[in-house]
Amino acid sequence: MDYNQLADLLFPHITKTPADYEELFPKRQLPEGAKVTRLGPSPTGFIHLGNLYGAFVDERLAHQSGGTFYLRIEDTDDKRYVEGAVEVIINSLRFFDINFDEGATIDGHTGDYGPYYQSQRGEIYQCFVKELIQKGQAYPCFLTSEELEEIRAKQEENKENFGIYGKWAVNRKLSLEEIQAKIKSGQPYVVRLKSDGNHELPAEEIKTISIEDGIRGTLTMPENNQDVVILKASGIPTYHFAHVVDDHFMRTTHVVRGAEWLPSLPIHVELFEKLGFEMPVFCHTAQLMKLDEEGNKRKLSKRKDPELSLDYYRNEGYHPAAVREYLMTILNSNFEEWRIANPDAPIDAFEFTVEKMSNSGALFDLNKLNDICKDVLVKIPAAELCAFMKNWAREFKPEILSLFEGNEAYIEKILDLGREGQKPRKDLIFAKQIFEFISYFFDEYFKIEDSIPENVSGDDAKAILAAYLNSYEHQDDQSVWFDKIRNIATELGYAAKPKDYKKNPDQFKGHVGDVSTVIRIAVMGRSQSPDVWAIQQILGEERTKERLKAMITK
Ligand code: GLU
Repeated sequence: MDYNQLADLLFPHITKTPADYEELFPKRQLPEGAKVTRLGPSPTGFIHLGNLYGAFVDERLAHQSGGTFYLRIEDTDDKRYVEGAVEVIINSLRFFDINFDEGATIDGHTGDYGPYYQSQRGEIYQCFVKELIQKGQAYPCFLTSEELEEIRAKQEENKENFGIYGKWAVNRKLSLEEIQAKIKSGQPYVVRLKSDGNHELPAEEIKTISIEDGIRGTLTMPENNQDVVILKASGIPTYHFAHVVDDHFMRTTHVVRGAEWLPSLPIHVELFEKLGFEMPVFCHTAQLMKLDEEGNKRKLSKRKDPELSLDYYRNEGYHPAAVREYLMTILNSNFEEWRIANPDAPIDAFEFTVEKMSNSGALFDLNKLNDICKDVLVKIPAAELCAFMKNWAREFKPEILSLFEGNEAYIEKILDLGREGQKPRKDLIFAKQIFEFISYFFDEYFKIEDSIPENVSGDDAKAILAAYLNSYEHQDDQSVWFDKIRNIATELGYAAKPKDYKKNPDQFKGHVGDVSTVIRIAVMGRSQSPDVWAIQQILGEERTKERLKAMITK
């Protein structure tokens, strides 16, 4: 068979040669050891934690080494394309402080290695399919879906592996004339790789390949034997082919991708070899798992776990620095230890390495994320946190935006409540939770949520509040203020100290704690809150007194 003739028959319009592309996309001029990484999402409109997890690895590898991190949109599957999806990807990642150096942008691309939308790279792929055909390493395959089904049924019956390989690769044998005739009659075809692998040998003779995975170490697997489709009937490449061509010509040094791609690695290895391209370092990341209610590990699912979507974190108002901090703890096993030793260092000072990544499933735990949020937020100055809350409200809870605007000084005092000193309070987690936590500071949202302690009668509660209001001096310092509460307690038959009550419970109706709980409920609507005196100082005299009066007259 004259393969050149076949190549010209199938790709008459392809005039560039592989050498042209080597020249067009030369090796990058980067310092020694600089890594080039990419994110290759499909524009499905759904961006999830796994994408962020992978993007974080890419970003760190590139930027820690003075390299380049770029965005490539893998839009060869037009059925899955969703309008606006690229914008979602770029904006969501930017929110988490992950920025690309080059690649796809919302309305085009920047960089010298584009286009970065696979749908615009048709001619490049076809040039290399043409080259494989010229070398006799790929061929057109006209098998119809019915014929493919028949093959599958036979394979199932004979308990043989599925796919087109060896004796099943019947179109390998077509002559040029037969191909010409089929094309002339308009029969659609795909292009398949002519794999050199042979699995019909005795097991010990089947060749294996060994690859050094950045995360998993040496991987040994049987070589590929499948004549996989590299170009679909539409002229669009499959993932396998596009990946190999793109990562070569965009000069990717490290391919970070999910473990779901491991089974097709032998296909990619064969393609890299046949095309004569140097292989990048593969880093197959672990799947994100969670513990379900029964304590079993399972994959995070789009359907069952809202926390898989990145939108979830934005809606709830998670601070990007906290999410990054958390992701780093699941990415690198030595991060937490480093953090303890370097509590105030910026996260980027930590040296991230793929070797320290887990390869057996990274466990995602929302409670742990929330704990980390507390630690991260306690270090963020109130003014910054206030601006963050305001931005979150603008986007996700516009009805409360006016509470923030023009009220910054008030909000900052609220956010700073109990955050000073040796043991600062760590109860701020994410914007939605913070707003609920502080909502009693706003009259529109203030309501009595808890009930007074059982051992305090309604009349006593009113008496406590009346006495408190009567003696209330806004300027009182904390100890004068508390002495007054102790006096009220004693006067009304409550122990001034809890330990007195414990010693002689029969002599008292309760203790000073019950008395201050009544006050707390009147002023904050809640039986649990930070320091009452400090809260009153922020609320101001007038608002405090109004709330006391309202409860007395209830
Ligand atoms: N488009 C592929 C995906 O969304 C990317 C895989 C890769 O990074 O190579 O799964």
